[in-house]
Amino acid sequence: MAKITDILRRGVSYSFEFFPPRTPEAEATLERALRELEPLQPSYVSVTYGAGGSTRERTHDLVVQILHDTSITPMAHLTCVGHTRGELHEIVVRYRDAGIENVLALGGDPPKDSDLPPGELPYAVELVRLIREVGDFAVGVAAHPEPHPRSPSKEADRFHTAQKLAEADFAITQFFFEAEHYFDLVEGLRNHGVDKPVIAGIMPVTSLSGIKRMAQLQGSEFPAWLADRLYAVGDDPEAVRAVGVEEATKLCRALLDGGAPGLHFYTLNRSTATLEIYASLGLTSAR
Ligand SMILES: Cc1cc2nc3c(=O)[nH]c(=O)nc-3n(C[C@H](O)[C@H](O)[C@H](O)COP(=O)(O)OP(=O)(O)OC[C@H]3O[C@@H](n4cnc5c(N)ncnc54)[C@H](O)[C@@H]3O)c2cc1C
Repeated sequence: MAKITDILRRGVSYSFEFFPPRTPEAEATLERALRELEPLQPSYVSVTYGAGGSTRERTHDLVVQILHDTSITPMAHLTCVGHTRGELHEIVVRYRDAGIENVLALGGDPPKDSDLPPGELPYAVELVRLIREVGDFAVGVAAHPEPHPRSPSKEADRFHTAQKLAEADFAITQFFFEAEHYFDLVEGLRNHGVDKPVIAGIMPVTSLSGIKRMAQLQGSEFPAWLADRLYAVGDDPEAVRAVGVEEATKLCRALLDGGAPGLHFYTLNRSTATLEIYASLGLTSAR
């Protein structure tokens, strides 16, 4: 077990994100991915936090399971939405008492088809403060290279992200497909006097279904040149995946060459794309 702040001091980090499975089949898929990715010795892995009550309990269970059953450092995601301050406090205390030292503090999105209340803490920065009150955690936050969809302007987004990151230890970005968006974010934060580590979030495109919609929801541009390359081989799933991996590898190289302190792979609980990008980058293990 280690604090991500210490890990980041050692050099470039390579981390993976998973979500808690809902079905026995999904559980088996995740177990396989974890087994196949563990030999890469990721710097840490993170587990997302969902909207429903049972999903939320699964985040806790999976984070604690990774801590006990693997050699990997886990980080728990936690969102403000739908929670009172007291509930959030209780969740963080449970993590502290279970020996978890890393939390990603997020605002979250109120689900449209749910009666989940909006939540007592309006912004992630307040969750950062709450986590600090509970214990000595390494605290990460989200950053949005292309401004967050609810932000009125890029300047407002950069300002609020800088204020949030000033109180946190590091940020992990939303996914993006053009390196320039990442560098623009880092420069924007520096202009506000914040130079804490900003880890780049990488989403390899492994299939065409859903990626455009997902990008739209997160406010990420799905560039025409990438769409053209993918649609040109659209009826061959293997070729789509190969193009996705090739482009993600190029993006990773550009980010590392430009000084990104870490890459965070959105694995979607699959190992293949991440393994292939690792191989293309010439990486064996991260630690
Ligand atoms: C790495 C990563 C992991 C994620 N994991 C999860 C997950 O596990 N579960 C999940 O549900 N979602 C997750 N998300 C999505 C995230 O919850 C959404 O993007 C959410 O809409 C915003 O979260 P945030 O933490 O950036 O929110 P905030 O920092 O609260 O910002 C939300 C909006 O409010 C604005 N804002 C912030 N502070 C102020 C202020 N003081 N005044 C006015 N405006 C302000 C911001 O500019 C932004 O537009 C993740 C995102 C990333 C990048």
